[in-house]
Amino acid sequence: MTKQENKKEDPLEKGNTTAVSSYYGSMTFDQKAIRKKLPKEVYKALQETIKSGSKLSPDIADAVAHGMKEWAMENGATHYTHWFQPMTGSTAEKHDAFLSIDSDGTPIERFSGAQLIQGEPDASSFPSGGMRTTFEARGYTAWDPTSPAYLMKGGKGLTLCIPTVFISYHGEALDEKTPLLRSMNAVNTAALKLLATLGVDNSEGVITYAGAEQEYFLVDRKFYSMRPDLIMSGRTLLGAMPPKGQQLEDHYFGSIPNRVLEFMQEVEEELYLLGIPAKTRHNEVAPHQFEIAPIFERANIAADHNLLVMEVMRRVADKKGFALLMHEKPFAGINGSGKHNNWSIGTVEGVNLLEPGDTPESNIHFLVFLVAVLKGVYKRSGALRASIASIGNDHRLGANEAPPAVVTVFLGDLLEKVLDAIESGKVDFATEKQVLDLGLAHLPILNKDYTDRNRTSPFAFTGNKFEFRAVGSSQPIAVPNMVLNTLMAEAMDEMADEIQQKIQSGVDRDSAILEIIRTEITATKAVRYQGDNYSEDLQEAAAKRGLPNLRNTPQAMRALLDQDTREMFARYGVLSDQELTSRLNTRLERYIKGIDIEARTLQLMLKTFVIPDVSEYQGNLAGSFNGLVAAATTIGVSDKALKSQGAHLKELAENLSDLLDMTAELDAVIDKLSTIEEEFEAADFCAEVVLPAMDKVRTVADHLELMVDRSTWELPTYSEMLFEH
Ligand code: ADP
Ligand code: MG
Repeated sequence: MTKQENKKEDPLEKGNTTAVSSYYGSMTFDQKAIRKKLPKEVYKALQETIKSGSKLSPDIADAVAHGMKEWAMENGATHYTHWFQPMTGSTAEKHDAFLSIDSDGTPIERFSGAQLIQGEPDASSFPSGGMRTTFEARGYTAWDPTSPAYLMKGGKGLTLCIPTVFISYHGEALDEKTPLLRSMNAVNTAALKLLATLGVDNSEGVITYAGAEQEYFLVDRKFYSMRPDLIMSGRTLLGAMPPKGQQLEDHYFGSIPNRVLEFMQEVEEELYLLGIPAKTRHNEVAPHQFEIAPIFERANIAADHNLLVMEVMRRVADKKGFALLMHEKPFAGINGSGKHNNWSIGTVEGVNLLEPGDTPESNIHFLVFLVAVLKGVYKRSGALRASIASIGNDHRLGANEAPPAVVTVFLGDLLEKVLDAIESGKVDFATEKQVLDLGLAHLPILNKDYTDRNRTSPFAFTGNKFEFRAVGSSQPIAVPNMVLNTLMAEAMDEMADEIQQKIQSGVDRDSAILEIIRTEITATKAVRYQGDNYSEDLQEAAAKRGLPNLRNTPQAMRALLDQDTREMFARYGVLSDQELTSRLNTRLERYIKGIDIEARTLQLMLKTFVIPDVSEYQGNLAGSFNGLVAAATTIGVSDKALKSQGAHLKELAENLSDLLDMTAELDAVIDKLSTIEEEFEAADFCAEVVLPAMDKVRTVADHLELMVDRSTWELPTYSEMLFEH
């Protein structure tokens, strides 16, 4: 059989009406493929490895590699790559061919266990935040067996992609995946300890789940390619608002344009092939803005899959003549994009620990875990805020848009009442009747009760999970989930100790649990906020309650300097002090470089598009005005008419002068930035001086856009980008 004949039928072929379930995951080395390709004992050993989340043993690596290679080649793959998440905010891969040449010169396809378990990319060009010195610039990538290998389309062929972690020679994490996996271990240990304290000892393990609702914009490629700002920074640095923005809100859940629908369908089909459970698609609030959401999965898998969703969307968008905008704020004055990170914690046996049950006892357990979330988020809100700080997200958080920079938790009316009642000491869990009176028996309906959902909250309880809405659309979710897991591990660990201490001092278990729940409800009250998060009231409440209000990236990143926070990451084995510092450095550096690039791009656009276009138009206008003045007496043009036409020319000229002055100011600011060496100082300068200078010049440029002849203005306008299909 030739390779072609052996290839699977392409479900994306035109006219193919194959059910999704029949090809779902067929491009992944999933359970079915593994069972088919591996000897029985190897299959079993690999299952054990996946279940326990441990490393693949070298004893079976060769056999697994062989099976994986056979499977990949049968499907048409020629190369393999270790796919990983460096601290650049995206993914990285280096492709190697299976091909090798034997000593006698015969070509042969090879893929060994050693190549599967570990690859050695040259790590020197990936950020390490100063962790490695150049002479040991070697990094290692090692397969994460919990995340299945898959075949990725690209160019003419297929590549076997092996999801890996990326670590230095000395074992420090150089990626975002390693800390996430470590944080899942921390959750497991702490949750089992807490469950044991509650008297539950029948669980094999606890994991966290995530489901990321991904928002994005699509614009036509022909406009995109004429906008240096979109190309260089992912957002428009200039552009006047069109007469119609999103004020009519006619886009949300509206019918999806056909061209976009085709894009979505192709994306979904590719995702299904990769075993990614894409579930919902719809229009978003802004014109040309859309959302895709998968079914939730284990947090580490969800993190990999979200990156793949972004990758697949980018590729399909290119193919369809679109540009995919993942930026948090591509268009000023139009809603930005976020990524709601739905997060929950549950046992491997399938019990969601944040889901109210139908017995008072299970609801007490539910309350313990709920209160643990409050405790963690309250205590570590700075670290949580830092986890989603980025140059793009600064335009949403703490700016004029939701969600705010203050991290608060929304629970809804019913739970608020329950917690208040417990706090006031009116409840005694010892009698079942009181538990019922308290309303705990009604909790199961929470799940279906979406009526009082607060859309403005950055961190909302939605029935059986929390929705962390402040995550930026372009951000890898590994980072916020890592922080969520760690703060949860700490809170659960501490609560287990507190309950245990009470029990040891002679209090019965139920009363001990209730007392600790009550203590924590009181201690964390400040983090609960049920009001409108866009209001002044929140700002006042934050100040009064002492909640951090970290408005931009440098302010948020300072939360990671806090010694106690750093100790938490180290204590739970998630990030050593040095690893945390390296992340801090890398993120600050990216922020500074990103703003420097934006400012220089704006400078370029002003000098090569805006100023020449306005000057040209002004020249035309001045020429016609002079002509008019010369002919005025002859043709009897009134003074009044000359005056108003002169005023028009004058306004243009004065705005152009302002623009020239402000462009010069921007030049000076950019020069100044390059002289600041200390990173926090440079980052503050970016936030406090560079961005305002950019905004200032933009205001004038946008005003001029509306004065200049359309045929002279070369940049595609907001109207074109947002309203033309
Ligand atoms: P919305 O109404 O906010 O658009 P949905 O109810 O459709 O949200 O769910 C949004 C996301 O939450 C989906 O990705 C879904 O799979 C995920 N999700 C649902 N239950 C859980 C859970 N227990 N843990 C984590 N994510 C979940
Ligand atoms: Mg949502």
